[in-house]
Amino acid sequence: MQNAVPEARIRSANDAPVNSHGHFVLYWMTACRRVEWNYSLDRAVSWAWELNKPLVILEALRAGYPWASDRFHGFIMAGMCDNRAALKDQNVLYYPYVEPIENADKGLLETLALEAAIVVTDDFPAFFLPNMIRSAAKKLTVRLEQVDGNGILPMADADRIFSTAYSFRRFLQKNLMSHFSAPPKASALKGRSLKKPSRSLVEKIQKKWPSVPLRDLNATPENLKRYPIDHAISPVPGEGGSVRGLRMLKRFTTSGLPHYADGRNQPDQQVTSGLSPYLHFGHISPHQVFHEIALNQKWQPQKSAQKKADGRRAGWWGMDENAEAFLDQLITWRELGFNMCRHNEKYDQYTSLPQWVRDTHDAHVKDKRPYVYALEHFENAETHDPLWNAAQNQLVREGRIHNYLRMLWGKKIFHWSASPREALDIMIRLNNRYALDGRDPNSYSGIFWVLGRYDRAWGPERSVFGKVRYMSSKNTARKIRTGDYVKQYATHGRQPSSSH
Ligand SMILES: Cc1cc2nc3c(=O)[nH]c(=O)nc-3n(C[C@H](O)[C@H](O)[C@H](O)COP(=O)(O)OP(=O)(O)OC[C@H]3O[C@@H](n4cnc5c(N)ncnc54)[C@H](O)[C@@H]3O)c2cc1C
Repeated sequence: MQNAVPEARIRSANDAPVNSHGHFVLYWMTACRRVEWNYSLDRAVSWAWELNKPLVILEALRAGYPWASDRFHGFIMAGMCDNRAALKDQNVLYYPYVEPIENADKGLLETLALEAAIVVTDDFPAFFLPNMIRSAAKKLTVRLEQVDGNGILPMADADRIFSTAYSFRRFLQKNLMSHFSAPPKASALKGRSLKKPSRSLVEKIQKKWPSVPLRDLNATPENLKRYPIDHAISPVPGEGGSVRGLRMLKRFTTSGLPHYADGRNQPDQQVTSGLSPYLHFGHISPHQVFHEIALNQKWQPQKSAQKKADGRRAGWWGMDENAEAFLDQLITWRELGFNMCRHNEKYDQYTSLPQWVRDTHDAHVKDKRPYVYALEHFENAETHDPLWNAAQNQLVREGRIHNYLRMLWGKKIFHWSASPREALDIMIRLNNRYALDGRDPNSYSGIFWVLGRYDRAWGPERSVFGKVRYMSSKNTARKIRTGDYVKQYATHGRQPSSSH
């Protein structure tokens, strides 16, 4: 196929054939919710071109997924507005669908697929998406292809789970360079005159499952109220969508990046990119982020190619220390999480922790905790510690916590819960309920890191933590300026928790 997406990124989810009598090619957009730098779209466009059929893009949003709330619906719907605008003048039929009631979308994909030649979708390794694709694959009578656009390294190219960032970095240093030769297209539809979709192409189907009109995609309280989701978690105004994501990326490369190496651990300096929710919902591609950094640094790939694969962070890319530090987060740490989720279906379960971690937890599970809080005390920021409460309040109000405080936030949940298993459960619930970037492979990297994953054993052995790395609010307050932060986030400003 012309302009092919690398084979390592494509896998068939079923054994069904391509239906040459189908009326269109269907791209079922589920994780890479963008029209630029998107391998799945590239693949769907290639099929449409090859088969000389129009392209239909279904971007659907369900109501009944875990933690569905105004916050996440608002973010995703902002992205739908951007996609709709970007595709308005293209020879493509864009079909945004937001489920009005739970299970209303039942049958939509199968009905569309009955008329399609092939269905292309995104390959995301976490949350409910792998199950959703597996169950769709069983039902469709036409070929369903999954395309992996998650990272610079195709997930299939690492054949094992990496237990440290160091070992993964070494692997990347040996294997990543070849993957820069076939990035996704910045603009898949440019220069491709695809067959024009007729108005009637999916008209009948849309009668039963209507597209959302543009006015209803605005994440206003009135619009969001109509969906059966958690309305206690408010949307974050102005957030969401590829347009905003790109603006943030540009702002970061000019003003945050030059201070990243020294400033990334200072919450009050705001030098980090803020891109994690945009990466999570697929509103921006890691390839595009890399491309901007490479342009900014006038990157010469041969400099990286000469580097020895020693697993060390510094000097890997031949860029300045800020860009090197940033790319280590964007590529090594971010893709480490995708590696885990792809190769271990139990990535979110306690038993996925390394043996030494579980052993040291067991040895200290009966240690007396200085405080023990239940989920609702943590959720309502009712601990004795003003800094911890401020971090939780920021999470509730804004759907974010700065990484350094997020580490402390997690470590203290570990410290003040009845057991490590309970701490895990509390972290997952709070992170995934409130964080815009939650429900992501990196959610599990961060949460399990708190408990010991990807880390080494530390001494001296401590009460509760055992050999797991310890953090305290007192030390954190010594290292970073927290006074204004604690004042700013003294309250969570939320209605009493709903029982959703
Ligand atoms: C308890 C805990 C929970 C976490 N939950 C999440 C989560 O739900 N979703 C999430 O994306 N990240 C999570 N992280 C990792 C990290 O906090 C965020 O990725 C980071 O703060 C996002 O901010 P940023 O986009 O400004 O990052 P930047 O510093 O600008 O980094 C750029 C990108 O690199 C990646 N990245 C940065 N730091 C890390 C890290 N430590 N681990 C993995 N990838 C990283 C992210 O994709 C980020 O957007 C968690 C960390 C902890 C300790």
